[in-house]
Amino acid sequence: MDATLPLRDAISPAEASPASARLGEALSVAGIVHAYSGAPAVDDVSFDVPAGGVAAILGPSGCGKSTMLRIISGLVTPTAGVVRLGARDVTRMPARERRVGMVFQNYALFPHMTVRENVGYGLSGLKGAEKRAEVDKLLALVRLEKFADRLPRQMSGGQQQRVAVARALAPRPTLLLLDEPFAALDRALRADMQFEFLRLQRELGITTILVTHDQEEAQAVADRLIVMNAGKVEQAGSPSELYDRPRTLFVNTFVGQASVIKASVAAESETASTLRLSTGDEIHLPRRSGFMRGTNVVIAVRPEHVVLHEKPAPGAIPARRMMAVPQGPLRLHDLLLADGTPLKAAERRAPGASDAPPGGTVHVTFELDHCRLYPSS
Ligand code: ADP
Repeated sequence: MDATLPLRDAISPAEASPASARLGEALSVAGIVHAYSGAPAVDDVSFDVPAGGVAAILGPSGCGKSTMLRIISGLVTPTAGVVRLGARDVTRMPARERRVGMVFQNYALFPHMTVRENVGYGLSGLKGAEKRAEVDKLLALVRLEKFADRLPRQMSGGQQQRVAVARALAPRPTLLLLDEPFAALDRALRADMQFEFLRLQRELGITTILVTHDQEEAQAVADRLIVMNAGKVEQAGSPSELYDRPRTLFVNTFVGQASVIKASVAAESETASTLRLSTGDEIHLPRRSGFMRGTNVVIAVRPEHVVLHEKPAPGAIPARRMMAVPQGPLRLHDLLLADGTPLKAAERRAPGASDAPPGGTVHVTFELDHCRLYPSS
């Protein structure tokens, strides 16, 4: 597998079985509002996930991600709004009738039941040989055939997660919900499990929503990101759309990295603008800023859009190098501008090049097409 490809692209749809794209139904939530004892948790949340798609609800702790999962699964009835699965309005439908499978963060396996019994739990309608055959099929799907008679405590974290997924899939849901599915796994195992999970998802064509606070994980796994902040959707779209065209400063800094520099608009015309940075330096944009002269703004710039010069260069701003660490093919620099504003820069590292010592002065320019401006809060 090419390690640089997002996982979802590394597994081609051709690898999926012909049975794919049959299980999933489209999900649509519109105008969802929910308050716990008067305290608002989600406020007017709307988004869609197409049948067979993988969406990640992404956001910091407390932003309302789990509440949205509970509302979609039927564990919580929203104060207002509509949840649709395919053509069905399921907003007030009991959880067990929705055909929604849920994998909890801690997997919530029954500790005294074997793997087989855990998976079979969701198959209450089947008995005897028929049930056994169905459980065997599910265990094969998650590649745990050999572990059927073990107890959860005799399994690794990754294996327990697969048992939880098999149990959630047993009643043949049309939508699978996963709450922080990879959070409990160590880093190396996480990538394997994400790959394995996508293989399964593609094979079944099941619509999937996962909740995570880890933007790298969301970008690796999902074809659609829904970024939430303080109970609202900040932006929804494909991972590259959110990375390249974040609509808010929050999205700009939450999906990928960005340094934030305070500035004010010193001049503004139809075709150009001048920004005065908090350091006193000026930068000239070959476009309108979209703000009135005198407005306080912030500039968000991603590390790969900061250009380093060892010597003073036209338009370059001096910065102090605090730290430089190699990271694979890149070298990442932690810099400080003259007024103490931190700035991250990433540059391609020549093979074998030694790392510059901290403490020196460098000069930075920005790839101006990629600098994004937001109103100062
Ligand atoms: P996240 O999953 O993004 O961490 P949650 O949906 O769990 O966020 O929480 C959103 C908000 O609702 C938070 O302020 C949280 O404290 C509150 N909250 C969540 N669950 C409950 C609950 N059962 N009772 C009261 N408040 C809750």
